[in-house]
Amino acid sequence: MLNPGADTARKKILVFRELPPEQLTRLQALHEVTVANPRLPEQVAAFHAALASAQGMIGSSYPVDATLLAGAPHLQVISSVSVGVDNYDLPALAARGILLCHTPGVLTETTADTIFSLIMASSRRLVELANHVREGRWTSNIGEELFGWDVHGKTLGILGFGRIGQALARRAALGFGMPVLYHSRHPVDLAQELPALAGKARHTPLDELLQRADIVAAVLPLSSETRRLMGAREFALMKPGAIFVNGARGAIVQEEALLAALDHGTLRAAGLDVFATEPLPLDSPLRTHPKVTALPHIGSATFETRQAMAALATSNLLQALAGERPAAAFELAYV
Ligand code: NAP
Repeated sequence: MLNPGADTARKKILVFRELPPEQLTRLQALHEVTVANPRLPEQVAAFHAALASAQGMIGSSYPVDATLLAGAPHLQVISSVSVGVDNYDLPALAARGILLCHTPGVLTETTADTIFSLIMASSRRLVELANHVREGRWTSNIGEELFGWDVHGKTLGILGFGRIGQALARRAALGFGMPVLYHSRHPVDLAQELPALAGKARHTPLDELLQRADIVAAVLPLSSETRRLMGAREFALMKPGAIFVNGARGAIVQEEALLAALDHGTLRAAGLDVFATEPLPLDSPLRTHPKVTALPHIGSATFETRQAMAALATSNLLQALAGERPAAAFELAYV
């Protein structure tokens, strides 16, 4: 419910990725809505035409840079159906005073489930062994060449200890008895903020974490500080036989260094939900590498969570266009 002093004028909204019908209906009840997906060649012209008069935009997974913003002179708010904001040119938005909203919180548990699934799949070789059955190769009891590696009790290193990192730590420490090391710029006061993890998770410098963890899972935002964070030096620091899992953004990893660590180093396996280029190019060696479990960027991709994200993003946009500041506005003041 919008407040009585709210701006009720009909505004122009550009929907740049498909939205569930019930959310489109909410927008259409109050505003003029154009749906145009710039990834589809036949909709590019309609997208740019709508951009020229749009006051609000809603969508995800499309780069919104200064050039695109130059074509949107009336834009007041962008509502991203994602928690990550790496697709947006944040300084350009700040300079124009355009509000950016995102969807923190509603995808936290689902994304932590996905990352933990990748940990399990990589350690226990679940995809490889399921294919062993599917392809009719289970003709006798498996030998140790197909054995996996325990997850419970292993030390988990988490890069990024925000909403999703902490949800992952709860699964690991409380469900699987795993000591947790985490890397972030600021330590979290666990006794105050997450008492269940007090004494079970420890703030650790990056290099020490890489040297001590059996499994390293990345779930930090992509930024100028984290782009290409994991390179040859970092993979070489990891324990022999360790596993690397990426549930953050592909560009935090130097993929050629990851491949070298898998082929010539001592990395046991990698579980990847995200890639430098998405969809993963058919000729990427990561697609078929025997030590890689690759997923098509499904961190938040469940029915329930995608619905919740679309609903929150729609509410964010409606609130912002009514002149209110949504709780899920991204803080641009410091970029
Ligand atoms: P969040 O609550 O903002 O947590 C981010 C964490 O990363 C914080 O602990 C932050 O701590 C840390 N961090 C930020 N910059 C850092 C740096 N330069 N070095 C070290 N640590 C840094 O975000 P979230 O909701 O957990 O989401 C995290 C990211 O996951 C998103 O940005 C998105 O890219 C990714 N994600 C992926 C999927 C998927 O489909 N695979 C789904 C959802 C989210 P400090 O500020 O103290 O450093």
